[in-house]
Amino acid sequence: MSPYFFYKKDLLFAEEVSLAEVAERYGTPCYVYSRSALENHWHAFTSAFGKVRHRICYAVKANANLAILQIFAKKKGGFDIVSGGELERVLAAKGEAKKIIFSGVGKQHAEIIRAMDVGIGCFNVESEAELERLHTLAMQRKKVVEIALRINPNIDARTHPYIATGLSDNKFGIDASEVVSLCKRIQATLPYCKLIGIACHIGSQLTELSPFMEALDCMLAIISMLKTAGISLQHVDMGGGLGVCYQNETPPKITEYVSALCSKLQNSGLEIIIEPGRALVADAGVLLTRVEYVKSTPHKNFAIVDAGMNDLLRPALYDAWHSIKAVKINQDISEKNYDIVGPVCESADCFGRNRSMALKEGDVLVIDSVGAYGACMSSNYNARPRAAEVMVYQDKIFLVRKRETVQSLFAEEDVSVIG
Ligand SMILES: *Cc1c(COP(=O)(O)O)cnc(C)c1O
Repeated sequence: MSPYFFYKKDLLFAEEVSLAEVAERYGTPCYVYSRSALENHWHAFTSAFGKVRHRICYAVKANANLAILQIFAKKKGGFDIVSGGELERVLAAKGEAKKIIFSGVGKQHAEIIRAMDVGIGCFNVESEAELERLHTLAMQRKKVVEIALRINPNIDARTHPYIATGLSDNKFGIDASEVVSLCKRIQATLPYCKLIGIACHIGSQLTELSPFMEALDCMLAIISMLKTAGISLQHVDMGGGLGVCYQNETPPKITEYVSALCSKLQNSGLEIIIEPGRALVADAGVLLTRVEYVKSTPHKNFAIVDAGMNDLLRPALYDAWHSIKAVKINQDISEKNYDIVGPVCESADCFGRNRSMALKEGDVLVIDSVGAYGACMSSNYNARPRAAEVMVYQDKIFLVRKRETVQSLFAEEDVSVIG
């Protein structure tokens, strides 16, 4: 658990705010973020770079709440986006267009045009077909676009297969063997695309440095081949992927990760870009949920809570492990092994199995380290409104997203044709 979430006697706090009070005021399920934790992680990255020329582009998909985006925008940060929707979110949070990088394998015409019109900093191109589309659209507008090629370095990130993105059989990036000839083609025949960098992103929740280092070697080899071919770049973008500790993982520290990148890249003379998502936001957020029922069968004890897999998908999707704790420690009840499950009609709707806890109906629990890929992956499955989201800062509480209403869930549906 992040040091910004801690017990005072038997009560769990986020900064100077009691989480029992948040649950009382805003109801459950409810995401709670610590602004100090977010800012602290941001500073850890920037100070690790020191004087080395760099840009940190927060990967918006990890948590796209406007309040979180605005905190990083105020730090003059950049953003890595993967859709037109994320672009609008960054602009709404006063993010600077020039500092936006547009990644993703499926950029649509309208998304590209909008991104060109607002003047984003760079398109990370993932295929030859996308390159041609970008060139055509840029030519029509008579405006040169700055691009980087996303390279697939064929590296095993040694993470969950759903979040490994740097292997040759993944859909992402351009095969390393084809990059140099493609760069030559851009220079020779695509005047409306200006190549300013190369990029990679090999996967998420990496807990070792070595895959990053292997990717770096691949990138350095390409930079050197391009140099030989007379092609110079402005930046090298190493993507995101730094892991966090959910259970007993020991990922590299932010300082170790940044130093390792800098030591290999410093002499290249290129600006270093990274796109961290999870490492910035994961442990800055928790999910509050209330025990609706305690149910004991001859085989098991279940604590049925009011959050479901629609609110937090990671355990169901990736078999992810999250620590679960009581917001108020019960001194007078004995611990038992519980499966902590949600109300959704799927057996995958389970947040933790065989957790030893002292709990009773009505207790508020906290699911830890869900600031990344939590709220942003939530859905309305089972016609469940999305949870409220709250930001705390020192002793202050701000509601940064209201709980959805049930009416809003079907407001766009039209039954007039049915009669
Ligand atoms: C998802 C993603 C990231 C962020 O990954 P994290 O593991 O959350 O740091 C960065 N860049 C790209 C292109 C991504 O798709």
